[in-house]
Amino acid sequence: MTTINMNGNELDTQYRYTMPAFKVQIAGKGNGIYTIFNNMDDICKKLNHPPEVIFRYIAFVTGSSYTEDRNMLTGSHTPEKLKEIILHYIRHSIMCSSCVIPETIPEIIGSKKNLKINLRCSACKHVSPFNVTPKYMSKAEEIIIKHIQSGKPWPQNKGTMVLQKESRHEIETEQVYDSVERSEIVDETDGTQQTNEINPFDII
Ligand SMILES: [Zn+2]
Repeated sequence: MTTINMNGNELDTQYRYTMPAFKVQIAGKGNGIYTIFNNMDDICKKLNHPPEVIFRYIAFVTGSSYTEDRNMLTGSHTPEKLKEIILHYIRHSIMCSSCVIPETIPEIIGSKKNLKINLRCSACKHVSPFNVTPKYMSKAEEIIIKHIQSGKPWPQNKGTMVLQKESRHEIETEQVYDSVERSEIVDETDGTQQTNEINPFDII
């Protein structure tokens, strides 16, 4: 199975966040041409984003329309082009801006008239506002808000994080654990400093 590195760097053979490449079939003719997606569910499990949201986003970017429940978009879309679109989406809508791990969960914030999305990282807990640069990413934000507001569940496959925690000692290169380890060291240092600190009242 061909996979895509979710950070877009195909040269990074050790990168652990991968997703399947798009498997599509082009059907129909002329104005009636359409694209059937054969593995959107598998892709979305890796993204932790619902297929409906991804379909709507790709439909928006490509100017096509999405037929719910039929895993298809109007028009002809190649796996290469879809890869480009999804990597852009991942960079803006899924990657944590702090630890650069694609495991954020969107949360709605703001007042009724001005709803926004915050991305909360399930790895490092960093919370960042949804990046709407370029401007058309605000459409992605809108699609995500609508989905959450509809009451449909947001997928949260914690599998990757759980696996990471289980094999923590093997993945010291992962940034998230680097930061955890750093903070532990800082705590220890603080403790040492406190015990070694000279109390001015002792001198007197
Ligand atoms: Zn993070």
